[in-house]
Amino acid sequence: MKIPPTNLVSKLYCSLFGHNYVTSKKVTHHIREYTCTHCGEQVTTNSRGKLEVMTPKLKEINNTLASVHQKKNLRNNSRKNNLQAAS
Ligand SMILES: [Zn+2]
Repeated sequence: MKIPPTNLVSKLYCSLFGHNYVTSKKVTHHIREYTCTHCGEQVTTNSRGKLEVMTPKLKEINNTLASVHQKKNLRNNSRKNNLQAAS
């Protein structure tokens, strides 16, 4: 596979100056997915709170976490609303 020259320059830039990650997806309060604006590399926070290069397996874990997190949030919000209504 041929790598486009711009991508090579970006990779070189990143290896010299480090990646410029921006949040691409919020999975939970602690876990996020990041994408490098220079080379497009994707990383994610792993279970130990460290950044790890994105793999299909990690993507799957994140998707599961995100759906569990969303359900939990919905439940918490409705409980909060009930409490406010009661007081
Ligand atoms: Zn990069």
